[in-house]
Amino acid sequence: MNDLHERLQRVRREIAKAERQFGREAGSVKLLAVSKTRGADAVLALARLGVTDFGENYVQEAQGKLRQLPEQSLGWHFIGPAQSNKTGAIATCFDWVHSLARMRIATRLDAARPADLPPLNVCIQVNIDAEVSKSGVTLDALEPLAEQICSLPRLRLRGLMALPAPAADFAVQRRAFAQLRQAQERLSDRGFALDTLSMGTTNDMRAAIAEGATLVRIGTALFGPRK
Ligand SMILES: *Cc1c(COP(=O)(O)O)cnc(C)c1O
Repeated sequence: MNDLHERLQRVRREIAKAERQFGREAGSVKLLAVSKTRGADAVLALARLGVTDFGENYVQEAQGKLRQLPEQSLGWHFIGPAQSNKTGAIATCFDWVHSLARMRIATRLDAARPADLPPLNVCIQVNIDAEVSKSGVTLDALEPLAEQICSLPRLRLRGLMALPAPAADFAVQRRAFAQLRQAQERLSDRGFALDTLSMGTTNDMRAAIAEGATLVRIGTALFGPRK
């Protein structure tokens, strides 16, 4: 068994273990392999091991990989900051955008989504730490944005995403993710039909699963450290 296979098995075991430990249904947490900075060969190797969904932060880099993997029917998720001059390419190449935080970008993605593709799945990125430097909407601005996004026919709002400030302490990690879960619950109470909580990376995946993540975005634990 090679390193990649071993690391994938370890990640899958950790997800399964956290599901059991925190009373989550087996198989309820999806693995998104974050393949930014990794080559198409690494994506292909993971795809052959049964990984179906890949996350990318840079549009051009992702386009290069897609060109090299024409036969693979994989789910591609855009998780980087969405710039308005890239919305056309994002709406064409990707199945999901996790990092939506501005109505202007939403409108452009909606307009650019090709008619022969299903609506683009989107998550709203929430800045739960309310850090000025970070992308994402504040909790206050969340519901109005969710409402506006739902009026766009070529986008389908699926849930929320967060990338909290790195914390070493499990309880601190959990607190941040609990805020995202509660925000999702409030939106659900208001009638939004959401099924995705995109939260948790290599360092805080267990805490995210404990708080209800339905999708964890894992790079380093699968591929090793990025250069
Ligand atoms: C890079 C990245 C990840 C993966 O982080 P790792 O620590 O490598 O698991 C997850 N989410 C986002 C938004 C990222 O940019």
